[in-house]
Amino acid sequence: MDLFEYQARDLFAKHGVPVLAGEVIDTPEAAREATERLGGKSVVKAQVKVGGRGKAGGVKLAGTPDEAVARATDILGMDIKGHTVHKVMIAETAPEILEEYYVSYLLDRTNRTFLAMASVAGGMDIEQVAEETPEKLAKVPVNANEGVTIEKAREIVALAQFPAEVAEKVAEVLVTLWKTFIAEDALLVEVNPLAKVASGDVIALDGKVSLDENAEFRQPGHEEFVDHAAANPLEAAAKAKNLNYVKLDGEVGIIGNGAGLVMSTLDVVAYAGENHGGVKPANFLDIGGGASAAVMANGLEIILGDPDVKSVFVNVFGGITACDEVANGIVQALALLEEKGEAVTKPLVVRLDGNNAELGRKILSDANHPLVQRVDTMDGAADKAAELAAAK
Ligand code: GDP
Ligand code: MN
Repeated sequence: MDLFEYQARDLFAKHGVPVLAGEVIDTPEAAREATERLGGKSVVKAQVKVGGRGKAGGVKLAGTPDEAVARATDILGMDIKGHTVHKVMIAETAPEILEEYYVSYLLDRTNRTFLAMASVAGGMDIEQVAEETPEKLAKVPVNANEGVTIEKAREIVALAQFPAEVAEKVAEVLVTLWKTFIAEDALLVEVNPLAKVASGDVIALDGKVSLDENAEFRQPGHEEFVDHAAANPLEAAAKAKNLNYVKLDGEVGIIGNGAGLVMSTLDVVAYAGENHGGVKPANFLDIGGGASAAVMANGLEIILGDPDVKSVFVNVFGGITACDEVANGIVQALALLEEKGEAVTKPLVVRLDGNNAELGRKILSDANHPLVQRVDTMDGAADKAAELAAAK
């Protein structure tokens, strides 16, 4: 989960990384009081989860409260690389910036380690530095058990060739930034720029943090960072029902048991769709091993509630949960939805194979639901579902 800059800033402050004061607002007028509270000057910063805000005009200095209102008016509603600005941070202006550095920690999956990166050539374009002058970006693996002690931090600072007068201050920031990274179960913490200001201090002027959602269970405080407004409503509803659901942009709703089976179902449907005007899978939904009628009903409810879905492909390979149970689940699920007044109007193609497939197929045939068709091969069923979606 990626955080907004102001949220990253709050986490930095909590762990002792030096930051400037600021508050987040969502109306231009609120910029006035916020700027007054900061002594009459401020930086108005677009809060969007994308880099390059400065270049796009999303970071502006305001010399008076009136100017802050004007800049907030410009920036609120602005589109930055496809992200609409709904909030701005009114931040304390940095004292005169003398130099801009870059520091970060991230999980380096390829090398199965954590990685520290640091450069004296920070500011707006670290990607360019990495590409054109890689020697200016120090990359130092960090042992997970040892972490970043002040000695390790000094090693990183030396490799990145920070000027002597800031070396110790940057090393101290690296230690606090590491604390943030570990304590918050982050996958990335990045400061760009880490600014050297006139007083000689170094301050984190911009922060990027990505949190590891797998650590959710031990990070109750992170719930407040979830951007419910931005979440896809179907994904949010599926999450509330404990379903493994991902919205995609096609027309064929997919339900299967087991992540591997569902992944290959997506492929087969995308392939079959090529013969039917290019229809594609509308979602990923794995209802898991013990697919009870209730779970099937929950899954169908989510998928049938997606206005993009034109047909549904239920692909089940019976294992521990045998096909007859799944077939009963489908029949009961449709009845449940109809009872709830959610008229099912989209065609369902069901393929059952594996444990007790014969019995499962019989149950579906006997139920004889007008919208349910059985196709007994995966390719055949995918083709049928794609055809039905294209015909709608
Ligand atoms: P980004 O473009 O999305 O990375 O946004 P940043 O927050 O990094 O801001 C871009 C640039 O604006 C920074 O590199 C700084 O040069 C400048 N900037 C940011 N905050 C301040 C500030 O408080 N005072 C001044 N003078 N410049 C700032
Ligand atoms: Mn930046």
